[in-house]
Amino acid sequence: MNPYRVAVVGSGPAGVYTTDALVRGALDVSVDVYDRLPTPYGLVRYGVAPDHPRIKSIVVALRKVLERDGVRFLGDVHVGRDVTTRELAELYDAVVFATGASVGRRLAVPGEELAGVCSATDFVAWYGGHPDHARAGESFPLEAESVAVIGAGNVALDVARVLVKSAADLARTDMPPHVLDRLAHSRVRDVHLVCRRGPEHAKFTAKELRELLELQDVATELDARLLPAGSQDPLAAANLKVFADLASREVPAVRRTLHFHFWSRPVELVGEGGAVTAVRLERTREAGGAVVATGEVTDLTAGMVVRSVGYHSTPVGALPFDEDLGRVPHDAGRVLGPDGRALDGHYVAGWAKRGPSGVVGTNRACAADTVAGVVADLAARPPRGAGPDEVDRVLAERGVRPVTYDGWLSIDAEEESRGRNLGRARTKIPDWETLRHVAAADADRPDRGAA
Ligand code: NAP
Repeated sequence: MNPYRVAVVGSGPAGVYTTDALVRGALDVSVDVYDRLPTPYGLVRYGVAPDHPRIKSIVVALRKVLERDGVRFLGDVHVGRDVTTRELAELYDAVVFATGASVGRRLAVPGEELAGVCSATDFVAWYGGHPDHARAGESFPLEAESVAVIGAGNVALDVARVLVKSAADLARTDMPPHVLDRLAHSRVRDVHLVCRRGPEHAKFTAKELRELLELQDVATELDARLLPAGSQDPLAAANLKVFADLASREVPAVRRTLHFHFWSRPVELVGEGGAVTAVRLERTREAGGAVVATGEVTDLTAGMVVRSVGYHSTPVGALPFDEDLGRVPHDAGRVLGPDGRALDGHYVAGWAKRGPSGVVGTNRACAADTVAGVVADLAARPPRGAGPDEVDRVLAERGVRPVTYDGWLSIDAEEESRGRNLGRARTKIPDWETLRHVAAADADRPDRGAA
């Protein structure tokens, strides 16, 4: 009997963990992993902070999955444009959408359109060398001395840390050279983290906060009077301990300062001549478990404002999408149609399924939950999916030429080689043209077949 054929759309952690669970499962399954980008690993490659190599090293495990028999990588294929979701559903026994949540939520306050205001999504993608943002440098001149980062999550902390870290520290990362150059010439002196609730409610994790203690020339300003004595919640208690350490820390030679503003919510972004100059903050307080405004307003000077208040997903082709929740409607991973019933052969995993929460490893259990449904449904009927040749023919007919896994390995090798030349482990190739060129060069080599 032929294997069941499953398409996984998205090669970030959720897509790769889904693939892993499928090929390790009880059924004989082969998987085609699609990605819009020529490169795999999604947010592990483009979202995890470049100065977090330990988290990035998860790639070693993800790579083993993509190299398993019966798994193919088809990069540079935009599902919903190059091939429709319906076509995929016809070609495969099942399709699992692991397309993530790539759009930064808005603050919904006046002034968001001002120059100098950006989403963390865009800023992170730029410094992470995402090819959609290769030319975004002009949006981030880093000429402002004061920057406000809105939000109290780990992404806000990543952005703040990259802004205060020294160029020498960042030079060890895989950031593209033009990004490093911009950061090396940054005029930023003060970074303000704006948190609408108290330190005990912050969503930072203690491990990430603790890294700030290691920055020898970065002072931390926070009002120690706002730190409660402790918390029943162990995660909050761990954060409070780090905040106390940060508040009492002496930094002899201060190069930059990171300020924490608790109980402050942005009510307006103030501008002059079309560019942001300040964030109008309103003091908040807790009343009956809710955050309430006090009416007390102050202006915080900021020539750049990064909003980092979470993400939402975007619709993929004709796949059902819940605009209110910002993700795909589902029941234990089975995509629900407009009538509320499971849509045959359509599944979802990762942030597109549960929203933008959790760390990389959270996606493993999330994928397993979805795959349990896929396997139960497939086991009830024989395989009917088209073979790989048929899929390749459909794509080739419309001029779509996927980047194969070997093509990605060429990009990988080229990035390592560029890094070595600069004394670093890797330097990312930040533009589409070069990525495609390097990948295609491999496919054209006579001794390497398509993966
Ligand atoms: P997050 O953890 O959900 O944090 C979002 C923050 O934005 C919260 O502090 C929230 O405050 C605040 N917020 C929401 N709406 C706001 C508004 N209108 N005005 C002001 N503040 C607002 O999201 P994230 O930082 O984007 O991270 C996403 C996920 O990726 C998280 O699970 C995170 O842990 C993970 N991640 C992990 C790492 C790591 O492990 N190193 C790194 C990056 C990201 P409230 O709490 O008051 O709603």
